[in-house]
Amino acid sequence: MKKPVVSVKNLTVTYQIGHSLLGANTYLNAINDVSLDIERGSFFGLVGESGSGKTTLGRAILKAAPISAGHVAYCDGEVEYDLANISGTQLKDYRKRAQLIFQDPYAALSPRMTVRDIIAEPLEVMGLTKSREETDARVREIAAKCRLNLEHLRRFPHAFSGGQRQRISIARALVSGPKFIVADESVAALDVSIQADVLNLLKQLQDDLGLTFLFISHDLSVVAHICDHVAVMYLGRLVETAPTRQLFAAPRHPYTRALFSAIPSLDPDDRGKAQKLEGEIPSPTNPPPGCKFNTRCPHATDICRSEEPKLEHPGDGHEVACHRWRELLELVPA
Ligand code: ADP
Ligand code: MG
Repeated sequence: MKKPVVSVKNLTVTYQIGHSLLGANTYLNAINDVSLDIERGSFFGLVGESGSGKTTLGRAILKAAPISAGHVAYCDGEVEYDLANISGTQLKDYRKRAQLIFQDPYAALSPRMTVRDIIAEPLEVMGLTKSREETDARVREIAAKCRLNLEHLRRFPHAFSGGQRQRISIARALVSGPKFIVADESVAALDVSIQADVLNLLKQLQDDLGLTFLFISHDLSVVAHICDHVAVMYLGRLVETAPTRQLFAAPRHPYTRALFSAIPSLDPDDRGKAQKLEGEIPSPTNPPPGCKFNTRCPHATDICRSEEPKLEHPGDGHEVACHRWRELLELVPA
């Protein structure tokens, strides 16, 4: 089997958020002991409520958040890097291979640059082309792949709609020829009809260019549409991961089930049944003992309040961190 493009092992990302002269500093684990593999050519979804650590995990993989403990390995068939110990020319090369598509197509694009210059900038910053002609040719090639009108390259971004701007952002992320893309809430700011357009483009680009995606979203219906594998996060922990179909057919973690039942149903007979996820997500500076979800879980018992469940690997590719998941399958079928 091919090595995963990204292999995260026991990753912890800690931020110091308060200083005290008496030594009582406050720390926050935005990511806590997370392990996961992203297979080459996959569209890997990362879901969870706001504050669960999705952006931080994406940033750590891009070497834009600290790897406080654990390892992140990158392997695209041409190079292999240990991201906890990467610097210099290797890091420069990695920046070309792993790219981010931003959430907000309005904030991400400089209003004073033409579309051509916005897309060309990474080539110039990374020194990847030798002449203006070569840069222009590369910009036109990638703009066409992102279905941008080449006539528009001379214009400024304010002239464009949200969907077009997002395609400019995508072209900018792809111009250096990356193999791995983190798309963080990349369609969240767009109208539903435009979302489908951009998602189809991402899927098309994945096929054409052989890309691997980490697709971060709080919207499960978007994830169901585009991802082949999904990981669910809660308070900096990975609580469940499985192939998309398996996860949607039979979620195992009470948190995943609660996320699913919060999706409005199209079936009018079902609409009343949607359970809302009660209560607030606890503060990551003061997480509860035991399972981090126990304060909101309708099935929590004593062990859930005292012992943190480990991620179990039952052997069917569907991993879950819950003391009671087997029992619940029978007690409360999904
Ligand atoms: P999500 O993307 O799932 O909404 P984030 O990764 O943005 O979650 O945040 C996870 C937690 O880490 C939050 O509690 C957030 O406040 C905290 N956090 C994120 N970035 C920083 C930072 N640079 N410094 C301190 N705390 C941070
Ligand atoms: Mg985020």
